[in-house]
Amino acid sequence: MKKTISVFGATGSIGRSTLDLIAHNPNDFTVRVLTAGKNVELLAAQALQFKPELVVLADDGGYEQLCDLLSAHKDIQVTAGRQALLDAADIEVDLCMAAIMGFAGLEPLLRSIHSSKAVAIANKEPLVAAGSLFMEAAAKAGCQILPTDSEHNAIFQVFEPENKKSISRLILTASGGPFRSWSHEDILTATPAQAVKHPNWSMGAKISVDSASLMNKALEVIEAHHLFAMAEDKIDVVVHPESIVHSFVEYQDGSVLAQLGAPDMRTPIAYCLSWPQRMATSGECLDVFKLSTLNFEVVRDDVFPPIKWAHESLRAGQGACIALNAANEVAVAHFLNKDIGFGRIYTIVEKMLETFSGREVYSLEDVISLDKEVRMASGNFINL
Ligand code: NDP
Repeated sequence: MKKTISVFGATGSIGRSTLDLIAHNPNDFTVRVLTAGKNVELLAAQALQFKPELVVLADDGGYEQLCDLLSAHKDIQVTAGRQALLDAADIEVDLCMAAIMGFAGLEPLLRSIHSSKAVAIANKEPLVAAGSLFMEAAAKAGCQILPTDSEHNAIFQVFEPENKKSISRLILTASGGPFRSWSHEDILTATPAQAVKHPNWSMGAKISVDSASLMNKALEVIEAHHLFAMAEDKIDVVVHPESIVHSFVEYQDGSVLAQLGAPDMRTPIAYCLSWPQRMATSGECLDVFKLSTLNFEVVRDDVFPPIKWAHESLRAGQGACIALNAANEVAVAHFLNKDIGFGRIYTIVEKMLETFSGREVYSLEDVISLDKEVRMASGNFINL
């Protein structure tokens, strides 16, 4: 039996890697839904290759062009706009790949848990902003959550739920990003071109900047807290510049289990696509005979404050996590647009944490409303 799949964020880095794996295993998967933000040409090309029943463009400005490009294929339904994106999440599939960038993925993700047997989550920002709400809803819906982020996927592979009480620590590895050994002064004035030049991973622009600021690791600490129901003080980060060990789970008997692999997102994505089995990938396998040295370093918290902020935010509550994420999304967009320097990302996030950390949220509406408020305040702060 072929697995039915929907890919949200098909035109992005994770979406493209997912489709690459599916293209190499055409007998195992049927793509039912593909969604994109704005990239009409690529979405049309993907639709012609994978023949889904439905393609959705979240930005309805490109609707006419997409219809034109697919006009010879009446069996592919074309829709556009935010509501169409949400409706697409109701289509029943065996697996939904959640690979939209940012908080924009929250609502489709929450809808997809009712129509998908399993959801593979790459899209970490919704977990940061609404992790408890999401995990509770997924459990209630009986939907299997498959962590796709390489660190969380690594933990998932060696995490023994039946021995959870014996787990003393989760240790996330961080490459350290392109500015790992830079001075504080140089980091503050780094350009977008320098920030997106990740030493090991090829990723979308926003997550690349997050990797440079170490905000990505901060988001991952919060993500790990929700995915594995681990207390904040049992989650640590170690810098591992080679990105070969993708994370560790430490047990009270002294065993430390890890998953290793080349820094290629196709490995964790393949794990999610084929779970609970395993599939071959087109990527290169890690050759342990060629590994010489693996390095591990402590995080320079004085230069890169986000991981410390993640722990403080988890202690402060959901309002702080929403502020951390929303302020960062706004700041990174402005940085990529060259409106602000790299150092301002930290200033904006810190200011929004000070302002919004005490805020309580109880429902999805509260989450969306606070996210909006933080975005507005971040924009105003930038324009001061
Ligand atoms: P990209 O920027 O490469 O792709 C993002 C995707 O989301 C694109 O398909 C884009 O469409 C779509 N999109 C963007 N905004 C919207 C919106 N408002 N509504 C609907 N769709 C939208 O990101 P990545 O693939 O790098 O990352 C995706 C998610 O996965 C992020 O949350 C990231 O943190 C996470 N992740 C990524 C990893 C990686 O290696 N890239 C690793 C681990 C996690 P379009 O391009 O057509 O506009």
